[in-house]
Amino acid sequence: MLNEFIQRLLMLRHFSMEKDHIELFKQDQFLIDTDFIALLEEQNPELVYALVKKNAAEKIVVYAKAMGSSPENISIDTLKSLFGSLGYGNIEILSFNREDKRMTLKLTNNPVAKAYKRMKKKASKPSCTFISGVFAGVFTKIFEKDTNCKELGCETVKGDSCTFIIE
Ligand SMILES: [Zn+2]
Repeated sequence: MLNEFIQRLLMLRHFSMEKDHIELFKQDQFLIDTDFIALLEEQNPELVYALVKKNAAEKIVVYAKAMGSSPENISIDTLKSLFGSLGYGNIEILSFNREDKRMTLKLTNNPVAKAYKRMKKKASKPSCTFISGVFAGVFTKIFEKDTNCKELGCETVKGDSCTFIIE
């Protein structure tokens, strides 16, 4: 069954899946296998992080505007729904302070980390550079300052979740 956020986006025509075309907030979309993302991360983590950060910072402005808002006013619940709908996994906020421009969060059911583990089995250091880049870009606009995301713990190294600090 479609999640509620996607149902709402469909109703508002913010999301469409036609015969040969997918659109989200008027931006063309393209489904990519998570194995491919994990391969990219392994090849060049710094480049993946930088490019994804730049793109996410641009797109969150477009997405927020389409929802009649702006990044600095977007609610954390909306962001969680958006990330979940995009298939990034389940986000749990561990701490959040808009004034200090700092957030820590835990991500479970992260499909790219699972793909990485399937292919590489184990990593020596946190490897979720794609999602780190997304958080860095999005929160650069939300906090209205250049923000970075560091992965403190990663399920490709140990455990079954990833934790991130965004500041
Ligand atoms: Zn991770």
